[in-house]
This record gives sequence, C-alpha cells and structure tokens, in this order.
Amino acid sequence: MDYIKENLKEIKDNIRTVCEKQGRDPESVTLIAVTKTIDEAVVNESLKLGIRDIGENKVQEIERKYPAISKGVKWHLIGHLQRNKVKYVIDKVAMIHSVDSLRLAQEIDKRAEGIGLVMDVLLQLNIAREESKFGLDMEELYRLIEDLSRLGHIRVRGLMTMAPFVENPEEVRWVFRKMKDIFEDLKLRDFENIDMEYLSMGMTNDYLVALEEGANMLRIGTGIYGPRDYSK
Ligand SMILES: *Cc1c(COP(=O)(O)O)cnc(C)c1O
Repeated sequence: MDYIKENLKEIKDNIRTVCEKQGRDPESVTLIAVTKTIDEAVVNESLKLGIRDIGENKVQEIERKYPAISKGVKWHLIGHLQRNKVKYVIDKVAMIHSVDSLRLAQEIDKRAEGIGLVMDVLLQLNIAREESKFGLDMEELYRLIEDLSRLGHIRVRGLMTMAPFVENPEEVRWVFRKMKDIFEDLKLRDFENIDMEYLSMGMTNDYLVALEEGANMLRIGTGIYGPRDYSK
C-alpha cells in the first residue's frame, strides 16, 4: 500500500500549496477517494491512511461492497442514479452528487422520509453540454432549484460537475470558473433547503485547476489507487 500512501501525500501537498497561495484553509477541502473497481481489501487498507470519504459511481457496486468496508467512512454516490435504484442506497450514502431532475429528487425525498432522514444532495451540471454526460443546463438548474426548496427530506448542499476529458486541463478551466460563478450566484439567493456549501469538481487529471477555481470537494480515483482494471 506504499503507493497509495505516496499518492495521497503528493495530492495533499498539492492541495496545501494551492490553498496557501489563495489564503484558504486546506482542511476546508474534502478529498473523496473514488474507489470504483477497487477491491474491498485495498479500500480498507487505504482507509487506515486517513481517507474519510469514498466515492462510487454505481449502485450495484455500493451494495456489493458495503458490508465489507470499514464503518465510519462516508460514502458518496457520484454517478448517474436511476429512480428505481434510490431505495438501495438511501440508507448507505451520506451524499448524492448526481441529482439532475425533479423526479429523481422527489424519489430521494420520498425514500429519505421513509427512513426518517434528510439526504444531502448536489445538483449535477453539464456545463460543456456534452451529449455523453448527465447533468442540468443553466435554465433547468434555476427551474429545478425552486421546486426542490419545497421538498422537506433533501437538502441541496452544492453543485457537482464533470469537465470534459482533455489532455491539458487548462482547456477546461472555463468550466470550473463558470461553476464557481453559478455557485456564488445561488449563494446570494435565499431558497429554503438550499445551502450552497460544496463545489464538487476536479478529478485526477484536472483537480489542481478545479481547486484553483474554487472547488472544495475533489473526486480522485486513479491518482490515489492507480489505473483501474475494468476486466474483473
Ligand atoms: C471515476 C470518477 C471520478 C474519478 O476519476 P479519476 O480520473 O480516476 O480521478 C470522479 N468523478 C466521477 C463522477 C467518476 O465517475
């Protein structure tokens, strides 16, 4: 597990450097270790190195791994969520990053009410309007957010995006900057249940640019665990 330890150290050093330059507290940045395709045993070892948040993109994988992963870690659902699968994760995850429709939000609200909790969610935006990615456009976002403020068992805690994959992350700096603008705009408005606190953006290839543009939740997989093996 030495490689994980070294990777984590490098990422944390980088986070500290950027934060110091900007006068931000590095502790205000949440690092989510993205554990998709990573064995439970490896995940558990990595949790001993100080990881407190893990991210998975598939409901099935969360269900499969959940019993074997050490308790006390916060699970984040970062991938697309179908309404009929909400019931399988509602009692397992601390935050759902991929809310992109009223119908999905209503289902989460209903299931959360059923087990007596309020689920933290982020709204996923598709800033670059990529066909291949899920997420709201600006118009949909502002329409949705008013409807969401009427739901009592979800709490909107911020925004999430996946930038297009590019070799040079400078090419997607504008995506992160636009996210931050929207985030700040929503902060100024006073909607019920809407608490703009988290800006979830930045992956292995682009997390430093995202951080520079104001991200405070980074989702990093490969950069921590190495390349994923999808053959299993
Ligand atoms: C896989 C995944 C990540 C992490 O990707 P890496 O490039 O391995 O860091 C982040 N966010 C989402 C939504 C993902 O599916």
